[in-house]
Amino acid sequence: MLLKGHKLPDSFYASKKVVAPLGLGLQKIDACENDCMLFWKDDEDLQECKICHHPRFKPRKRGWKKKHKSIPFKQLSYLPLTPKLQRLYTLQTTAEHMRWHKEDPGEEGKLCHPRDGEAWKHFDRSHPIFAAESRNVRLHYRMMGLILIIKDLDLTRVGRLL
Ligand SMILES: [Zn+2]
Repeated sequence: MLLKGHKLPDSFYASKKVVAPLGLGLQKIDACENDCMLFWKDDEDLQECKICHHPRFKPRKRGWKKKHKSIPFKQLSYLPLTPKLQRLYTLQTTAEHMRWHKEDPGEEGKLCHPRDGEAWKHFDRSHPIFAAESRNVRLHYRMMGLILIIKDLDLTRVGRLL
């Protein structure tokens, strides 16, 4: 259900056209069929895995023309997180919300945010330099129970870019 006056784009293409300038798009990175490596950065132009020598692309079928793109055996979908976090810090109100966990004094003895929990405090004691910067973000990223990635991101570097 959308708010009054808001509309959904008519098609997937139309929604991609709106979202693309925001930098929210997925990046597709070819990967070895056997999960040995990614065809990325220095290895971006390789045609086979440098570890197991599995070809990067499926064999071309009859009738394929040169203009048709080669199809990789496997691709990784990468959703860059840093631009999204940078965007959160561009507005003062959202930036305040992002730093709240560190700057709000909270209430002694109340457990109302993960920062009040022992796990958060243990992390702060274990990583005092990371914990000292209020702009650093602790992420708990979960995708439908299939992949669980816990990532701590140092945003001091991102902050300099803003
Ligand atoms: Zn391989």
